[in-house]
Amino acid sequence: MTGQKRIIIVGAGIAGLTTAFWLHQSGHQLLLIDAGEVGQESTWAGGGIISAVPPWNYPDLVNRWVSRSRALYPSMIEVLEQRTGIDCEYRTSGLVLTGWPMTAATAWLAANAVTAMTGPLKNFQPNLSSPEQDAILLPDVTQVRNPRLASAFRAWLDHQPIDLLEHTAVERVLLSHKRVQGVRTVRGDTIPARHVVLACGAWTDRILLRSGLDRLGIEAIRGQMLLYRPQPALLNHIINTPAGYLIPRQDGRILAGATVESVGIDRRPSHTGFQQLAEMAQQLLPALEPDCIELHWSGLRPGIRGDEPVCGPHDLNHGLWLQSGGFRNGLGIAPAAAEHLTQQMNQAVS
Ligand SMILES: Cc1cc2nc3c(=O)[nH]c(=O)nc-3n(C[C@H](O)[C@H](O)[C@H](O)COP(=O)(O)OP(=O)(O)OC[C@H]3O[C@@H](n4cnc5c(N)ncnc54)[C@H](O)[C@@H]3O)c2cc1C
Repeated sequence: MTGQKRIIIVGAGIAGLTTAFWLHQSGHQLLLIDAGEVGQESTWAGGGIISAVPPWNYPDLVNRWVSRSRALYPSMIEVLEQRTGIDCEYRTSGLVLTGWPMTAATAWLAANAVTAMTGPLKNFQPNLSSPEQDAILLPDVTQVRNPRLASAFRAWLDHQPIDLLEHTAVERVLLSHKRVQGVRTVRGDTIPARHVVLACGAWTDRILLRSGLDRLGIEAIRGQMLLYRPQPALLNHIINTPAGYLIPRQDGRILAGATVESVGIDRRPSHTGFQQLAEMAQQLLPALEPDCIELHWSGLRPGIRGDEPVCGPHDLNHGLWLQSGGFRNGLGIAPAAAEHLTQQMNQAVS
């Protein structure tokens, strides 16, 4: 470990974990703090699609970072898997988009030189309703299995000289004369540090407010998901329509997602959400066995107006860094955002 001062990362979801991964590679001394357990909030709940869906509805920054993340994921996953033996099921499964206005879609694909194929849906994926409907296949889109990725990070941390405090909620960042002094936990402990990264997802604004700072405008956006028991060979690609998506896992399980609900910090799944997703899935893939639903859950995405993630220094307070606002693309952008933040912090942290 170099003689660099300790950096505290608040939040051990994908934003905090990838930031820890990259900062650690740069030799920084880290303390990672989470109110619960590593990767068990939105990061566990997500679908793991490494693409904005559909990409043309999101800002250029998100698409650039997804593309960069797809270049970074394989080496990160290799490190995690070699260290832990946990298969994160990171793989290329392609994304089929259908039911979207084709003119805007094809214009975006051409302008961004994205590898894509167009044709009737049946050319890319059998078993779906509306086989003659226009569709686009993005063959390079990858996915990761979120709970496995979270477990791999948790096990990786055991092998690293990175301090980890779970079940420790940070109440606020301690500031004096616009400089970070550390954090205070809800138990009243003070942990000193010269630099603090807030990577606490949907809870980011709550901590900023408690620290006497302005909100960023990050809102908890609930997303519900259904998991179907293995029905092998039904689905090869991720399928996305304006009504939702289906994701085939390696073992034949299928995920149906996701609701988008502005309900505050409340991640109780609802009967309405269940019905909405089950109907969407059945309509899209009629061969799906309706009584094969194994799990129903929800998570709180860190939503932000304009869908532009926040990644960099706080405007007014030296030593305070922000890594949040991944919204529906938090897994997709995380490695690139972590790389970006690390480059900035390498220059500022001494
Ligand atoms: C149903 C659903 C489907 C999704 N599908 C996809 C997808 O296919 N692809 C994609 O890229 N993204 C997807 N997402 C979005 C993605 O999951 C999120 O953007 C991402 O997980 C956000 O990561 P995060 O680290 O910012 O937040 P989180 O994973 O929520 O982590 C924040 C962490 O901060 C901790 N924390 C909060 N408050 C405190 C405190 N006071 N003190 C200490 N710790 C604290 C929490 O315990 C938590 O562990 C989906 C999300 C949902 C819910």
